[in-house]
Amino acid sequence: MKTAIVSAMQEELSSVLALMPDEHKVAVGGREFFDGHLHGREVVAVLARIGKVAAATTAAVLIERFKVDRIVFTGVAGGIAPGVNVGDVVVAESFLQHDLDASPIFPKYEVPLYGMSRFATDASLTQQLADAARRALPDAKLHRGLVISGDRFVATSAESRALQSALPDALAVEMEGAAIAQVCHDYGVPFAAVRTISDRADDAAHVDFLLFVRDVASGHSAAIVEAFLG
Ligand code: SAH
Repeated sequence: MKTAIVSAMQEELSSVLALMPDEHKVAVGGREFFDGHLHGREVVAVLARIGKVAAATTAAVLIERFKVDRIVFTGVAGGIAPGVNVGDVVVAESFLQHDLDASPIFPKYEVPLYGMSRFATDASLTQQLADAARRALPDAKLHRGLVISGDRFVATSAESRALQSALPDALAVEMEGAAIAQVCHDYGVPFAAVRTISDRADDAAHVDFLLFVRDVASGHSAAIVEAFLG
């Protein structure tokens, strides 16, 4: 059983790499994949970089080249639904691309030729990840549900409100998850994702995001991954 651990940013990945004693670096497609073990389990850890295309390429390489059996994403996101606040943890049950719109040919948000807009994460892997997040961060509020992705850092209250009214069940917004969910759907590879809320995707998002990533995010990712594989 080989598990891929994917992050979007260096701060998140480096704390995971610190738990891997024997990793060796393999360069593919301009990325560095760290192949090794974490708590004795086979792991490939990688920095996807930011955005949907970068995330999709990374997922495809993990599956085709590294033959991973499952993909787990860990990172940060902006809170969208009321009550999803900085420091909370969101475990995704499904993903949608909020910036995908081929209407009127296809319904808004629908991925053309898939006949669907929402891609579910793997139920049992998601349960395991939620359990791990609860063990690792017992004081954090945990939410489960829809996470939306798009190639935009949502950093105005106006845009956040617009997303909230268009997609009332969206818990959080980020820039990679829906892309990995689509690739994993294509290949039939189980996928789960956990995001700590770094900001409220509002006018203060940029400042909150930078502080959170610097001070908190890396510790959260490592703690959850450790609980998940331990
Ligand atoms: N200006 C930032 C850019 C990072 S983009 C920087 O200095 O590095 C934000 C990253 O965190 C993405 O990987 C995305 O998945 C996640 N994220 C956190 N808050 C977000 C928000 N409000 N909107 C979109 N993505 C967000």
